[in-house]
Parts: sequence; C-alpha cells; structure tokens
Amino acid sequence: MIEIQHIYKSFGKLQVLKGVNVRMEPGKIYAFLGPNGSGKTTLIKSILGLVNLDAGEILINGQNIKHNWQYKNGIGYMPQIARFPENLNMMELIRMLKDIRKMPSCEEQYIRYFELENFQNKALKNLSGGTRQKVNAILTFMFNPDILIFDEPSAGLDPVSHIKLKDLILQEKEKGKTILLTTHMLSEVEELADEVIYLLDGKIYFQGTVSELLYSQDELRLERAIAKITQKKTAKERIKV
Ligand code: ADP
Repeated sequence: MIEIQHIYKSFGKLQVLKGVNVRMEPGKIYAFLGPNGSGKTTLIKSILGLVNLDAGEILINGQNIKHNWQYKNGIGYMPQIARFPENLNMMELIRMLKDIRKMPSCEEQYIRYFELENFQNKALKNLSGGTRQKVNAILTFMFNPDILIFDEPSAGLDPVSHIKLKDLILQEKEKGKTILLTTHMLSEVEELADEVIYLLDGKIYFQGTVSELLYSQDELRLERAIAKITQKKTAKERIKV
C-alpha cells in the first residue's frame, strides 16, 4: 500500500507538485498520465526516495519513507533508459546486485522467459536497445518486490517482448503486487490499468478507471478524453493571458 499525503515539491520558483494526495493498493495497476512537465516523473522519484519533498509524507505499508532506506528493497523500478556499468556483462551485473542486496533472487526464470541465455556473457555496452530493456526488466523482477514501477516500459521492445512484459506485469498484479506505470501508449493503459491517475499542473485532476475517465469527458476513446482534458487546460490558460 502506498499512501501519498499532501506532497509539495518545487524546483527553484517552479512548483511541480502542489498538494498531491493519492492512495495505491496491492493487486492493482495504476497508470500515471498527464502532459509533459505535469510532474509524473517527480512523483515517481518521490516514491523512490530520490526527491527531497518540501512538504507532505509518503507512507509505504504504513511506514513513512523519510529517513528509511530499507523500504527500497521492496521496490522494483524499471527506468525508461537503462544505464549500466557498460564494461560488465549481464551476469556480472546481476551478481553485483545480488552482492549488494543480499536477498533471495530468481533471475534464471526471467533470463529464460526473455530468452537472454545467449547474451549472458556479452558486454552490456554491445547489447541493442531492446535487449538492454529486457535486462532492465530482469533486474526489476528478480528480487520479487512488492511494488513495481515502470517508466515507459515498452520503449525499444519488439512486439513479442512487449507482450511478454505485459503478461508478466499482469501476473505480478494477480500475485497482489502494487504496480505503477507511466506510458504514452494508451493501448497499454487500456490493457493494463485498473486505475488512471491524471496529473495536471502538479495536482491530481482525475483518479478512477478508464471507463470512469471516458464517462467524465463524455468520450468513447481514451485518446479523445485525454485530448479534451488538455484542451480545457489550454483554453483556461488562454483566458488567464
Ligand atoms: P513529467 O514526467 O510529467 O513530464 P517531470 O516531473 O519530469 O514531468 O517535470 C515536471 C517539471 O519539473 C518540468 O518542468 C521539469 O523541467 C521540472 N524538473 C524536473 N526535475 C527537475 C530538476 N531536478 N531540476 C529542475 N527542474 C526540474
């Protein structure tokens, strides 16, 4: 369970999060949507403990994450672009992470699942973008975390690997994991998300199911519902000017 309570964050004069309040439960997939610059990454970084908040609190399983680093062991994070120690190969990287984390892991099953057996001894710098993304996925799942966070998970994946990753995400949901996702692929949202959390101007504009979002905007297609929200915002800004 993730509880975000009235969080505020500014970078200099720019107020990015302005009192975000949201609760995310186990066994559900939450898709964060919102225009570029609306604060999605900042919100995710806040959950990962990478941002010093100006105000507000984040609780994970009832515990405040401030001054508590151990909670990070329960999170799997798949960034959009993987940055690896380039001279290592996949197995060296996995061994290094196992040494650091000292937790039970199940990398073999994911190496087989993503068919990476033949890439184990190749330097990471020589892997293609899609293969690096699969390595990224293995690192995300291998410690069996309770919370999984995906930032544009489909980036660079071929269609078969993309389907495999989506199936894996759905399986993890069935196991009761709390899953957060940012994506520009609306088909991914329709397929995976139990709830959409729509950020606008640093606040949560909408939280609910895809059907509720469609209903709220009186639209049949998600793409159109989202365009409508963004256009309303632009119209309001024009009036202000
Ligand atoms: P999103 O992920 O929704 O595109 P972000 O959370 O990345 O939005 O960014 C929100 C705003 O905060 C943007 O205007 C961005 O330029 C700014 N921002 C994000 N991180 C920093 C930072 N470390 N320093 C200064 N500004 C930042």
